[in-house]
Amino acid sequence: MGSKALEHFLEENLADLKSKGLYNVIDPLQSANGPIITISGKQLINLSSNNYLGLATDRRLIEAAVKAAEKYGVGAGAVRTINGTLELHIQLEEKLAAFKHTEAAIAYQSGFNCNMAAISAVMDKDDAILSDELNHASIIDGCRLSRAQIIRFNHSDIEDLRAKAKEATQSGKYKKVMVITDGVFSMDGDIAKLPEIVEVAEEFDLITYVDDAHGSGVLGKGAGTVKHFGLSDKIDFQIGTLSKAIGVVGGYVAGRQNLIDWLKVRSRPFLFSTSLTPADVAASMTAIDILQSSTELHDRLWENGNYLKKGLKALGFDIGKSETPITPCVIGDEQKTQEFSKRLYDAGVYAKAIVFPTVPRGTGRVRNMPTAAHTKEMLDEALHIYEKVGKEMGILS
Ligand SMILES: *Cc1c(COP(=O)(O)O)cnc(C)c1O
Repeated sequence: MGSKALEHFLEENLADLKSKGLYNVIDPLQSANGPIITISGKQLINLSSNNYLGLATDRRLIEAAVKAAEKYGVGAGAVRTINGTLELHIQLEEKLAAFKHTEAAIAYQSGFNCNMAAISAVMDKDDAILSDELNHASIIDGCRLSRAQIIRFNHSDIEDLRAKAKEATQSGKYKKVMVITDGVFSMDGDIAKLPEIVEVAEEFDLITYVDDAHGSGVLGKGAGTVKHFGLSDKIDFQIGTLSKAIGVVGGYVAGRQNLIDWLKVRSRPFLFSTSLTPADVAASMTAIDILQSSTELHDRLWENGNYLKKGLKALGFDIGKSETPITPCVIGDEQKTQEFSKRLYDAGVYAKAIVFPTVPRGTGRVRNMPTAAHTKEMLDEALHIYEKVGKEMGILS
């Protein structure tokens, strides 16, 4: 037996979480993470993945991954700056820059890593960061790592942002001030007000940083939230992930050439963590080719998203204020949300409960992520199950 202090800490805190219904149990999948998944031998309609376009199981990506593994092996063998940069990594970065309409791009091992890398490479203790209060955990951690002063502004509240930007820039306390926002907020599915944010940024010379993990492949005909608003030349940092709509794993920053040059010499996960595997890189490149050659998957994603939303709303559920295919179904109380999700599961729908601390207390929700790979029959079946469980639990009348 190890440390008693650790044992005491773990026992107390785990029991506390469990008693409040906040302890998340992980269900391993026995199948690919497609529109239908298998858990404990049971088939379920999957409404919980970020595999928006169904690319995680696309034959073209699988073939590209296998081919790359055959040629380059399964691992890159080193960090990027020693000799873990394969020609494939450079090709991917060129493709990402073209995809995002920027001069250059740099790839990382994940979107999370990207925020650890990019913020602290540029911001330090003499700087300040204006951060939307609902920003993703990796943005929050990336900001903390930089040791810059973090100034939170109310969610998508431009007047609050403007007031805080004014105060920060006129105080004379900071060398640089950055504004950071998600492009699409993953818990509610709302879109950042980028045109207004850019206006404030221009007024106060703020560095602009948009993490578009949930927007790429989804908005702007696939190119993302920044492209959606036609702001490709106005945003300094465009962050993306290869793990969601792209269907693989990894992250990237797209921006001007000298920014990317700087990140290649100063961002720590690039210097000290082994680069993306050849299979990941090849599959990601194939995905971007697919996105650029046709909007078919993108269009089907939106069609399915709108269909599910309309159906849930017609049944009487509170689906919040989503502007994207992300479809929350707000239940409120944490225990009740967990119970609702569990009953959906028993009836054949996998839609995960999302509760505090991921979302504010009292706003527990079951979040639905329809994808391009779902059929109308699957969505109809899911709606039918939602109706049945909603009535059983007295959420619907
Ligand atoms: C999912 C997400 C990430 C993390 O991306 P990974 O590639 O899964 O590490 C980062 N930022 C935002 C806004 C996200 O939604």
